[in-house]
Amino acid sequence: MNILITGGAGFVCSHLADTLFDKKHDLILLDNLLTGNKKNVEHLLNHKNVKFIKHDVQDHIEISEEIDFIFHFASAASPIAYQENPVNTLKAGSIGTINTLGLAKVKNADYLLASTSEIYGDPEISPQSEDYWGNVNPNGERSMYDEAKRFAEAATATYSRTYNLQTKIVRIFNTYGPRMQLNDGRVVTNFIVQALNGKDITIYGDGSQTRSFSYVQDTVNGIVALMESEHNEVFNIGNPIEITINELASKIIELTNSNSKLINKDLPQDDPKQRKPDISKAKTLLNWEPKVRLEDGLTKTIDWVSSQL
Ligand code: UDP
Repeated sequence: MNILITGGAGFVCSHLADTLFDKKHDLILLDNLLTGNKKNVEHLLNHKNVKFIKHDVQDHIEISEEIDFIFHFASAASPIAYQENPVNTLKAGSIGTINTLGLAKVKNADYLLASTSEIYGDPEISPQSEDYWGNVNPNGERSMYDEAKRFAEAATATYSRTYNLQTKIVRIFNTYGPRMQLNDGRVVTNFIVQALNGKDITIYGDGSQTRSFSYVQDTVNGIVALMESEHNEVFNIGNPIEITINELASKIIELTNSNSKLINKDLPQDDPKQRKPDISKAKTLLNWEPKVRLEDGLTKTIDWVSSQL
């Protein structure tokens, strides 16, 4: 297939591109390089069947090639990155989604939207299943991301119903692994960098908030399973093993043999207290589940971060 990936030079998409390349698809990677990095996909770019286009999805997208499948992933995605680029994030999720859906319509392409566990906001139920509508502050400090993604879901569903497009939505939960940006404030990279440098580990709040961390190849395998399935619906993709941020810090200190101490800092506004995906739908219908243990995934990530420092 000819596949377009917006956000193609980003952390998750670079691994997605590797997997699709191995499956012999032709790829167009489109990225404005705001938070993506061409280095992530450099190894693919000297192949004839991979093309890179520097472009921002909020601007009209013109592609001469036939396109069979579009992945719309372009967006800043870490809280620090989307709060530093608030308007771009809002536009990537809204105008960028409309532009890529319009392109899918013109090209008669199938479409997969990268949504997020953030559309559940600060969830009142745990675990979160696809039929939970969420608890989101519509104008809070995360709203340029989570409300834009909620709009993106609405736009995808509307185009699908109105124009009979084949669309899929993946709600991606916290994902980590090699090629994460080291300075975008995410907890896994922050803690690893701090631990390797012997700096204090910054726990926001009391560290009792939870997240569920999925190794990037597990996440990508789930996304590809959805792409290859006949299901044009919403799926959670993530690892259901939930841990507190304090436990994550202890694990990283242990795995890096670090002497770093834990310190507490203010909890950011609207920081979700818990997050844990219910993945029964993906297990049943996509025959997918995560396989990589947190310790193993963290070890690979620690090795990669060490090589970058
Ligand atoms: N966090 C932390 N210390 C850090 C960075 C993040 O305690 O140095 C916390 C943050 O407040 C949140 C969790 O770790 O509760 C996950 O944060 P991240 O930014 O990775 O992603 P989120 O799941 O909030 O989008």
